[in-house]
Amino acid sequence: MQVYADNAATTKLSKTALDAMMPYLTDIYGNASSLYKIGQEAHHGVQHARETVAKVLNADPSEVFFTSGGSEADNWAIKGVAEMMAKKGKKHIITSAFEHHAVLHTVQKLEKYGFEVTYLPVYENGIVHVEDVKNAIRDDTALVTIMYANNEIGTIQPIAEIGAVCREKGVLFHTDAVQAAGHVPIDVRAQNIDMLSMSAHKFHGPKGIGALYCRKGIRLPNLIEGGAQESGRRAGTESVYAMVGMAAALKEASDHMAENAAHMTKLRDRLIDGLLKIDSSRLNGDREHRLPGNVNVSFEGVEGESLLLYLDMKGVSASSGSACTSGSLDPSHVLLAIGLPHEVAHGSLRLSLCESNTEEEIDYIISCVPEIIDRLRSMSPLWERIQKERGNA
Ligand SMILES: *Cc1c(COP(=O)(O)O)cnc(C)c1O
Repeated sequence: MQVYADNAATTKLSKTALDAMMPYLTDIYGNASSLYKIGQEAHHGVQHARETVAKVLNADPSEVFFTSGGSEADNWAIKGVAEMMAKKGKKHIITSAFEHHAVLHTVQKLEKYGFEVTYLPVYENGIVHVEDVKNAIRDDTALVTIMYANNEIGTIQPIAEIGAVCREKGVLFHTDAVQAAGHVPIDVRAQNIDMLSMSAHKFHGPKGIGALYCRKGIRLPNLIEGGAQESGRRAGTESVYAMVGMAAALKEASDHMAENAAHMTKLRDRLIDGLLKIDSSRLNGDREHRLPGNVNVSFEGVEGESLLLYLDMKGVSASSGSACTSGSLDPSHVLLAIGLPHEVAHGSLRLSLCESNTEEEIDYIISCVPEIIDRLRSMSPLWERIQKERGNA
């Protein structure tokens, strides 16, 4: 059996999105800035895509700026606000300890340019405390940037409450909603969100396209000079098919959100319960405030990368939750942020589901994991030591 359970890394392009894109990859090849007919048809595609994305967020189309994805949107929002606010002498940024690297590495870069960054704790359940945000805000705070939902442990943050605090204190609030968009309801007005990042390939849209929502009135500096596209703020000929595909995927996800979430939550809970039957295992991240498709479990005395290789041989695509993309053996900063010891963080498994996963697939995963864990533990000096310490050996 082949089971794809790494939807937090990327998702399969939906048929609806592909169908919407095809005309723009073939006949409607005009430049969206050209005034003749196939240029205008392309322009209408862009306009319609922008309106669709805006509607899902409860934003105005003029507040939606297409980007190449989530990383670009995060970089633009944070560096843009930093540039804008430094002129006013505001050089303090508040974020959390377990942001995606697109946010963390960006604020770390700003530290080199004289910004001070407060990294809020996320506690054992992986959730930022609104009180901590409130207490961290100072007169020179330029920006609060807190992710909507964590990409490794799936925990959902109290975004509306954080937004309300920031609005009350007059501080800009950005959220990396890449894992949330298309999966949980978002309303930028009701939630007092000033800026929000999203990425199409995390909700069955194409890769290489995303958007930054930026509230009207915020004069975010241009990202790319050279043309009038994206209201002059991000120049370059539009990737019309990608924008259209993103909008189609987002509309589809949003139209079916409640039923998809119900299905995925059921599968998620079945998978969590099945995996927690394994000796010396634990669930990472709050169980209630959690993305419908996220499962993240640690197994003591196991090396996550080996677990992945064995799962791959069984046809299951998952992630170690250690985001070892760089090939480094450092444990995940997310798992360390929720207080896991290094050796436990190393033995973590992230399974991220989508609406097309089935109960049979979940039961197959549950049947594969225990024997792999047994095999890895029988070869593990760490497990042997743990057993000795517990007086089991
Ligand atoms: C995937 C992801 C990103 C990066 O998005 P790209 O479109 O791949 O650049 C940023 N933040 C979070 C939370 C993500 O999950």
